[in-house]
Amino acid sequence: MKFNHAEIIEMLSAEGDEMQQLLDKAHAVRVARAGEGIYLRGLIEYSNQCRKNCLYCGIRKDMPGLERYTLTHDQVVGAAAYALREGYGSVVIQAGEITSKQYTDAVERIVRDVKALTLESVGAAPPEGERWQDTLGITLSLGEQSLDTYRRWFGAGATRYLLRIEASDRKLFSQIHPRTIVHSYDDRLRAIMDLRRAGFQVGTGVMIGLPGQTPAQLAGDLTFMERMGIDMCGMGPYIECAGTPLAGGQVPPLQWRMDMTLKMVAVLRLMMPDINIAATTALEAIDPQGRARALRSGANVMMPNITPQDGLSGYKLYDNKPEPGCVDLSMPSIRRGVPGDSKHFTSVAGKSE
Ligand code: SAH
Ligand code: SF4
Repeated sequence: MKFNHAEIIEMLSAEGDEMQQLLDKAHAVRVARAGEGIYLRGLIEYSNQCRKNCLYCGIRKDMPGLERYTLTHDQVVGAAAYALREGYGSVVIQAGEITSKQYTDAVERIVRDVKALTLESVGAAPPEGERWQDTLGITLSLGEQSLDTYRRWFGAGATRYLLRIEASDRKLFSQIHPRTIVHSYDDRLRAIMDLRRAGFQVGTGVMIGLPGQTPAQLAGDLTFMERMGIDMCGMGPYIECAGTPLAGGQVPPLQWRMDMTLKMVAVLRLMMPDINIAATTALEAIDPQGRARALRSGANVMMPNITPQDGLSGYKLYDNKPEPGCVDLSMPSIRRGVPGDSKHFTSVAGKSE
């Protein structure tokens, strides 16, 4: 459905029964157009090293007192094998932004080895009557990289990439990032477009409830995603992280951020009926039912955290972040053993799932 700016703002201002009607409508559109199934991606937090200093983020380069880690090759491939055995269908490998050759090579090797895993090699036995696809889908979320690096990672077998614009309004973007060369709005945009050039299904998203953010900017975020023709979206509430420069800024109450995230998901579903929309983890930092509510408001993807713990606790992007394993996977609509590609991508590219 096509909406103008004023109509989007109007929908985002819905409250009470009106808001519930919006969420219900988005749920119905999701079931009709993106399918009844909820897709799982196992989230692997590969490293908390980062060269950037985003003002909101708990693993920013200058975060004091943070122990840095990078999982080993075998830990990542082992976590992926676990995901395949559990029927997750795909994994997301996420980390801070590192651009060294040593690192990009290591990621390429990881992607290759994860792609080489098969149901048989990991000893997976799908339940009676279910047919699981033999290998995992791989999504990367490793920040801004060169087109060449994106091409190499795509060539190694990754097919989707998540890179949020964070705030599509230039002014707001500059308020939440330091004014240095590595935090450039134009480079971020360029990177999102390069992902498409490299062949990826492209996911982006924003944070909701940032200091100074206006309803007009949030509406603009939705039209930005529509204009970019994205395949996937992950957007969630901004959650303050103590020790970051942005913490302490004036922000709307948590409940407002929760409701606004649900409405943003719902309106985006109406605007882009066949994309994949994630019920993001940050929702759970506000309400234990947060993700489940998003899955009834237009979202169709869940990303349980499967990072091997081995004593790690360093991937804390924001306060009150749920620990791995805190997720209810008993919902009947969860689809195991399927990659769950974005229908938007497969229909535009003319490929079958
Ligand atoms: N370094 C990569 C991926 C890791 S960060 C990147 O920046 O793209 C993943 C996401 O965490 C970011 O896109 C950001 O939107 C989100 N994030 C970081 N700090 C946050 C906070 N305080 N509240 C909510 N989300 C946050
Ligand atoms: Fe690094 Fe991503 Fe955090 Fe920015 S948001 S500091 S790039 S991990």
